[in-house]
Amino acid sequence: MQANLAYIGIGSNLGDTIATIHSAIAALEKLPQTRLITTSSFFQSAPYEASGNDFMNAVVAIETTLTPAALLEHCQSVELTFGRERPFPNAPRTLDLDLLLYGHETINNASLIVPHPRMTERAFVLLPLCEIAPEIMIPGKGLAIHYLPQLSQQRIDKLQVETLSTNTR
Ligand code: ADP
Ligand code: MG
Repeated sequence: MQANLAYIGIGSNLGDTIATIHSAIAALEKLPQTRLITTSSFFQSAPYEASGNDFMNAVVAIETTLTPAALLEHCQSVELTFGRERPFPNAPRTLDLDLLLYGHETINNASLIVPHPRMTERAFVLLPLCEIAPEIMIPGKGLAIHYLPQLSQQRIDKLQVETLSTNTR
């Protein structure tokens, strides 16, 4: 079966967010039928339609032969291993994994919508995504990079590498 290039958005705003994102990437790397291709920088962003502390965000590219539904299930299991609870919509979360893109597919069913329906409104998704895939097209919406200028009011900062290494030692 042909491998599909998929992009997963990672967010955390509870606990040691940097360590959580590192561990989440390690968990994604270990998924069956999956190979990690690229990891973006880490970005710190203001909560957007969410509550609590600033978020830490990143996006990874993977190549996988898992179906989109299986990939989503695996992502949800990884979220659970980080103790994610959903006490109320948009509550602070230890780990959020969103399937942003799966090849050129569009999917719309009760449990999965791809491309992720709100990705073009979120700087914390688009900035890391465009960093690792500057020419990426969003099916039905065109070039991802075209949506960035209108999100310039959202506070988001790329973490410097020094910050990352001191925090992961
Ligand atoms: P959000 O990420 O929107 O803050 P959740 O992570 O709690 O909220 O997701 C809620 C539901 O969204 C999940 O039960 C999942 O079935 C559904 N969902 C639909 N499309 C996607 C997608 N592309 N990626 C991840 N979850 C999705
Ligand atoms: Mg989610």
